[in-house]
Amino acid sequence: MVQYYLPVGMRYSALEERKRFYTSDFNLQAVAQWFGNWQGKVRFAVIIGRHTKIYPEKYKEDASVTIVIDEYSNLEDVRQEILEFLPEAVYYDRNVYDETGAKTGQELAFDLDPENITCPIHGTLADKMRRNQGLGFCELELRMVKQETVGLYEFLVKHFDKLRVVYSGRGFHIHVLDPQSYALSANERLKIARQVKEAGFHIDEWVTSGEMRLIRLPYSLNGLVSRVVLPLTKDELLSFDPIHDERALPAFLGRKATF
Ligand SMILES: [Zn+2]
Repeated sequence: MVQYYLPVGMRYSALEERKRFYTSDFNLQAVAQWFGNWQGKVRFAVIIGRHTKIYPEKYKEDASVTIVIDEYSNLEDVRQEILEFLPEAVYYDRNVYDETGAKTGQELAFDLDPENITCPIHGTLADKMRRNQGLGFCELELRMVKQETVGLYEFLVKHFDKLRVVYSGRGFHIHVLDPQSYALSANERLKIARQVKEAGFHIDEWVTSGEMRLIRLPYSLNGLVSRVVLPLTKDELLSFDPIHDERALPAFLGRKATF
């Protein structure tokens, strides 16, 4: 197993810890609120152990595949499914579907990850990949990616009204909830992604263009770093410290950073 370098205190979550989180910490009300204006039924998805190689033995064969959760009657059902799989990651599908399952739109989102930042210490993504550290990141990269997120927010707020920032456990996501953005064509999305990159932001083009439509579920556990996926206001973002902020610390870490 490759161990990635991570900021102090960040580490993989064990199965028992995932279980504890989704039994006691997982805030379903907050999840329901996140989807307050969603048109249609949300499709959830989990990945059990693709990166961590930590999975319940009975799901060994399916540890790396994406498992869709779309047959549920309420969020409590979804939680029970998650508790069955004990995944390293929980996502939702940004596609909006009607009752027949036809796609009617897609939430627009931007994904900023620390590995895409060129670090004065660890170098470029290519440097990191050469050392099998494509998913590793350091505290400095985390700080730099936060500054970029602030910058991207200020860039996007000129074009959109309803922006939501989410700490993903590694980097940050910006979700665009303006109703008209759901109807953007694939070409328009690609154009936006290119414009944002040309403006100097290190986003994942696949997420914004819509090719990669899964995005981490807010309030779920990022099992690669043992942090809660956390929505933040723009003001909170400025002072947010992902290493120590208690709201991002699952209870199994003791709710306080002892490092
Ligand atoms: Zn670094």
